[in-house]
Amino acid sequence: LVSREHHPHRSTVRVGGVPIGPGTVTLIAGPCAVETFDQTLEAAKMARDAGATLLRGGAYKPRTSPYAFQGLGPLGLRILAEVREATGLPVVTEVVSPADVDTVAEHADMIQIGTRNMQNFALLQAVGAVGKPVMLKRGMNATIEEWLMAAEYIAQRGNLDIVLCERGIRTFETQTRNTLDVSAVPVAQQLSHLPVIIDPSHSGGRRDLVLPLARAAIAVGADGIIVDVHGAPDTALCDGPQALVHADIPLLATAVADFAAAT
Ligand code: PEP
Repeated sequence: LVSREHHPHRSTVRVGGVPIGPGTVTLIAGPCAVETFDQTLEAAKMARDAGATLLRGGAYKPRTSPYAFQGLGPLGLRILAEVREATGLPVVTEVVSPADVDTVAEHADMIQIGTRNMQNFALLQAVGAVGKPVMLKRGMNATIEEWLMAAEYIAQRGNLDIVLCERGIRTFETQTRNTLDVSAVPVAQQLSHLPVIIDPSHSGGRRDLVLPLARAAIAVGADGIIVDVHGAPDTALCDGPQALVHADIPLLATAVADFAAAT
């Protein structure tokens, strides 16, 4: 269902009216985690200033340590809905458990499946059944074939509104959190008709790498970029070191605008 053999033309997925697909670079930006209304609103304004047309933010956080901030849950979803109301930006947010799929779907414009859940087949089937666009991150240990098969689980439930997101894979390298596999963009676009975007924030795990990797994503033809932004990353409850700050916003805007001018 997700293969180009059966669907030769590349697809565009619409999220709250915003297209993700060939001919555009859709910018999705926002905080890694929703912490408070004010923090999320500030990040959403930063996102909008950078040219983002979709807001990201996690209410359910899949953390390596059970002692780390796990997200605000339903309160976080309500904050995201309020910030969408205030800014007009449709919301992308993660679900980590099949039990929460209906609640997340009520609040989200696009449901995110994170790297750790790429092969949580019950979760994939549950999100496939709720009729909202899904952003499927590549498992950090998954081959492109396994990633596409995971997308197939969602598609099989009748939902072809799937956006693939490359977010780095595990390699022997330790300078970065994960190794961004830029070749996954053209390869996945050749094999599948689904849009493919890149997350330069979670792959590198370092703020100084986000803009170079975002430019690389644009250069290889990614259909979008999803980045973390935070008004005060030193006090962020999740992944502060990778969040872009106010000073980075014009540079991010320029990187995306340059693409628009070049096409
Ligand atoms: C995220 O985008 O909030 C996230 C946790 O990403 P990943 O699943 O890629 O680690």
